Amino acid sequence: MNIVYLNGVFQPASEARISVFDRGFLFGDSVYEVIPFYQGVGFRLEAHLERLRHSLRAVRIHTELDWHDILQELVAQNGGGNMSVYLQVSRGDVGERSHDFDEAMAPTVFACCQPIANIYTAGTAKVQPIKAIVTADVRGHRCDIKSTCLQSNIMVLQQARSQGASEALQVRDGLLTEGTSSNLYVVRQNVIYTPKLSSEILGGITRQLVLELADEHGIQYQETDIDYEQLLDADEVWISSSTRAVVPVVEVDGEIIGDGEPGPLWAKMFQLFIDFHHTLMTGRGDG
Ligand code: PMP
Repeated sequence: MNIVYLNGVFQPASEARISVFDRGFLFGDSVYEVIPFYQGVGFRLEAHLERLRHSLRAVRIHTELDWHDILQELVAQNGGGNMSVYLQVSRGDVGERSHDFDEAMAPTVFACCQPIANIYTAGTAKVQPIKAIVTADVRGHRCDIKSTCLQSNIMVLQQARSQGASEALQVRDGLLTEGTSSNLYVVRQNVIYTPKLSSEILGGITRQLVLELADEHGIQYQETDIDYEQLLDADEVWISSSTRAVVPVVEVDGEIIGDGEPGPLWAKMFQLFIDFHHTLMTGRGDG
């Protein structure tokens, strides 16, 4: 049975109900996190919770629960194993539709999970390289907030799918920002380049790990501007996200990247992720 968490209660998904006046539903007035759990262990759980707190602070929703306990219990009640956990906090509802809100109102807290494959035990050979397109970034200017207002992201993702691609890389003012649900990297001459953190992109938890692992293993990187020509001219292009780790992009707008195969630096980085995962699972990592 699919068990979800809603406002303090673990219950079957089919029984969970929220108000039609919930501001998450009416206005997209809510924030969220997606966190992979492998065999009950959250992948960089603390970093995800820190980002959740950042999002909550930014939109002035005031709540702090024992997130660890809630999420561990949710995963356990759904049979443990490998799960992608979704956690959403909306501003809640006061029984009417109104743009105004009272900061003291009680938020709606919802969490659910679904089984995922363990990409790390599957290994490098099982990772499918992807194709991407480039689209205009028409989102607002607070992309550092993990908001559920995802309409423009899903519209451009749909456009990518209709063109046989699986991610849309977005451009604002001539510079690449990120994918619809991923951060972006290009590699040239063994150096990783990725857009610097700003309110124009999400501070990806996986992005942080890529840079940490690069530091630890003497791989050079720069957080810098990337334009369209640099993207198409790259030796390698990658995207990253929590449930996918690092994924090679071998075609952009119909142009082949490098030799059209996952590159050697990607393979090295993915192996570092596998090693990190192994350390985490054997209890020697900090998650
Ligand atoms: N950018 C956007 C817009 C995203 O939705 C995501 C997925 N959460 C990411 C980047 C990657 O973030 P993370 O590594 O924390 O999953």
